[in-house]
Amino acid sequence: MFTRLEEPWRLCRRPLVEYVEKIAEILRRAKSSIAFTGAGISTESNIPDFRGSQGLWKKFDPRMASRCYFEEDPKGFWNFYAMRYNAIANAKPNDGHIALAELEKKGYINSVITQNIDTLHTKAGSKSVIELHGNIIWSRCDLCSAERRTIECIEELESSDSPPTCKSCGGLMRPSVVLFEEPVKLMEVAMDIAVRSDCCLVVGSSLTVYPAAMVPEVVKGQGGALIIINMDPTPLDYRADVVVREKASIVLKKLVEVLS
Ligand code: NAD
Repeated sequence: MFTRLEEPWRLCRRPLVEYVEKIAEILRRAKSSIAFTGAGISTESNIPDFRGSQGLWKKFDPRMASRCYFEEDPKGFWNFYAMRYNAIANAKPNDGHIALAELEKKGYINSVITQNIDTLHTKAGSKSVIELHGNIIWSRCDLCSAERRTIECIEELESSDSPPTCKSCGGLMRPSVVLFEEPVKLMEVAMDIAVRSDCCLVVGSSLTVYPAAMVPEVVKGQGGALIIINMDPTPLDYRADVVVREKASIVLKKLVEVLS
C-alpha cells in the first residue's frame, strides 16, 4: 500500500508503526495542531468519496453538485442529494473519527476543519468542528433562508414528485451545503485558526478542492508541520513532513495508542 517517495518520511517501506511514531513526535512537539479532513475519512463509514477509487465522480457528473444545476434542474438536483442523504443519514462514525475526537480530548489537536457534510466528527465526540462546506442534515430556503430538516424535504420530493419548497415564502429549498460556484463563508474562520497553528494533520482529502485546500498550505507556508494520511497521492505530498498511504482508521487508531 505504501509508495516510495523521495524524502525519508515519505519512504514507504518502513513498518507503519514507525510512521505513526514520527507523527506522534510531531504532535507532541507542536503548540497548536489541527486536523483537516475530507471525504476519505468517511469511506470506512460506507459514505463514498468523490475522487477515490470508488468515488461518486466515477458514476456522476460533478456538475450535479453545482449552483448552475440546482437552478437548471432542481428536481434532478434534489434526486442527487436525496441519494447522498440516504448514504449519510444512517452512517456511524468509524475508528478514524473516534480517534480524532480522542486526540482532541487528550489535547493533541485543537480543532477539526472538515470538508465533509456528514456530521460524523460531531457524532464521534469532536467538540471544535468547523464544517467548511456545511452539512446535509439541514436545508434552507434559497430565497428567505428559512430552515427545514432535509429529511422532510426529501419526503416532500418523494410524495409530490417535485422539488421541495419553503413553507413561509414558497421559494425553492436547498441543502445547507456549499455547492460548486458558491463562496465558502467559513473560510475566514478556518484561515484564522490555520494562521495560529503549527501543525496540520490532513486525513482523507485529495487536496484539490479550493479554497478549502488552502488550510494545510497556510500552515505549511508559515513553517508548520504537514502530515498527510491519504490513500492516493495529493498535490501537497512533496511539501509534507510525513505522508502515509494507508487507511485513515488504521493509522489514527494506532496514533491514539502510541500517544496514550
Ligand atoms: P475527494 O473525494 O476529492 O478525496 C478523497 C480522498 O480520500 C481520495 O484521495 C482517496 O484516496 C482518499 N481516501 C479514500 N478512502 C480513504 C481511507 N479509508 N483512508 C485514507 N484516505 C482515503 O474528497 P475531498 O478532498 O474531501 O474533497 C471533495 C469534496 O467532497 C468536499 O467538498 C466534500 O464536501 C465533499 N464530500 C463529502 C463527503 C462526506 O461528507 N462524507 C462525501 C463525498 C464528498
